[in-house]
Amino acid sequence: MVKKICGIGAGYVGGPTMAVIALNCPSIEVAVVDISHSRISAWNSDKLPIYEPGLEQIIQQCRGKNLHFSTDVEKHVYEADIIFVNVNTPTKTGGRGAGKAADLTYWESAARMIADVSRSNKIVVEKSTVPVRTAEVIEKILVHNSNGKVEYQILSNPEFLSEGTSIQDLLNPDRVLIGGNDSLKGQEAIQKLKAIYANWVPEDRIITTNVWSAELSKLADNAFLAQRISSINAMSALCESTGADISQVSCVLSKNTKLGSRYLNASVGFGGSCFQKDILNLVYICECNGLVEVANYWKEVIKVNDYQKSRFVKKVITSMFNTVSGKKIAVLGFSFKKDTSDTRKTPAIDVCKGLLADNACLSIYDPRVSEEQIRRDLSMNEIPWENSIMAEAMRFDGTKQVSVYEDVYEATKDAHGICVLTEWDEFKEIDYQRVFESMEKPAFVFDGRNVLDVDKLREIGFIVYSIGKPLKQ
Ligand code: NAD
Repeated sequence: MVKKICGIGAGYVGGPTMAVIALNCPSIEVAVVDISHSRISAWNSDKLPIYEPGLEQIIQQCRGKNLHFSTDVEKHVYEADIIFVNVNTPTKTGGRGAGKAADLTYWESAARMIADVSRSNKIVVEKSTVPVRTAEVIEKILVHNSNGKVEYQILSNPEFLSEGTSIQDLLNPDRVLIGGNDSLKGQEAIQKLKAIYANWVPEDRIITTNVWSAELSKLADNAFLAQRISSINAMSALCESTGADISQVSCVLSKNTKLGSRYLNASVGFGGSCFQKDILNLVYICECNGLVEVANYWKEVIKVNDYQKSRFVKKVITSMFNTVSGKKIAVLGFSFKKDTSDTRKTPAIDVCKGLLADNACLSIYDPRVSEEQIRRDLSMNEIPWENSIMAEAMRFDGTKQVSVYEDVYEATKDAHGICVLTEWDEFKEIDYQRVFESMEKPAFVFDGRNVLDVDKLREIGFIVYSIGKPLKQ
């Protein structure tokens, strides 16, 4: 019987995932461990390190009962029956495969530590997104570094949550995927993990596969979602050139039951820590297997995403009489999507840098992202991925031309234009008449998420640009 679970890595995945297991399995002790002292102390405080609707309530309910956050990684790994590894797997920045391959440094060090401290048999669960066949590598590290008396079963259990809705996704997942090997012990391990999820997930939603299919399915899943966004964004560019309206096109597509309605909103581009990283990982795996055409196919998804961001920047500059130099542009929203404070790979970084490169003065407002985070993101000198259209913008540090506000009316005061870069619900409730009166004229709105009431804004007097719609005065 499983008595103790340890989750290594207390980030966007580890924190919420382990908390939901603790909530649904009151008889199991769940410890979430991390090498970052600041992250763990935030998890143990009133100000959690990440914002997710519904997360705080679960933490308050379980923390100190069967859910514990700790930096004592070794103790909790030693005691656990099942170890979930939720560490980060970013894109490699140097060496072989730099800019594409997944960096498994954190995973490898977690595996070596598990082998070092374990004295009883363990089930090791890959929760992080990893390249297909990583389980083989992990097994070698575990077996070669342990004392020979400990047996490991490695399962792939990739996480499908979306930030902003993680808690809902975890409480009511559309599927849980468990990949394991065919051996008797492999199948027993699958059953143990399945029994944990069965506490709240209907059995027909728990899919079991072999390990490699599970590992690849996660990469495929993110690649397909990102591809869908790039597809609708590519259509939005065509709409702007032809007079078609992307909202109408999306509506038609969404009624096709073969396509479904989700991920059909045109926008300034996708962001987040996963889509680009996982597609690049897929590209690298394809290239390593000699599948150059397949690799090129997936690369296009990122190229279109880059194109969408640069197209938006260009639209802002050309609409504002071919220069934004010295003009104040209010940026509403900085996180990569609503209901999260996460800014990793947010399109706002590239758009802001693109505008700063043309000497704009930016006043940024986001309800959940701190000034410190915004400044850190904008001063980062990112290494662009191969042939990136946004390469120039990504290298630009113009943070001196940036002000960050806690009030939307302060941010928009005296601005020449507004760029909406995150679809926060509160942006629909702003008093745009008041905003218009405080702005320089003509006053522009560039809605990078197609969330505002364009007719109302035009009635007030704004010049409005929405993605995939004709620019009207
Ligand atoms: P994150 O950076 O927020 O968290 C990772 C944590 O692991 C960090 O706090 C880090 O300090 C810790 N860590 C690293 N090495 C460690 C070690 N040896 N021992 C203990 N702690 C260690 O990352 P994340 O967003 O939670 O993503 C984790 C994994 O899940 C990635 O592989 C990602 O691709 C995948 N994933 C992410 C999402 C998402 O929406 N963020 C969704 C599904 C899957």
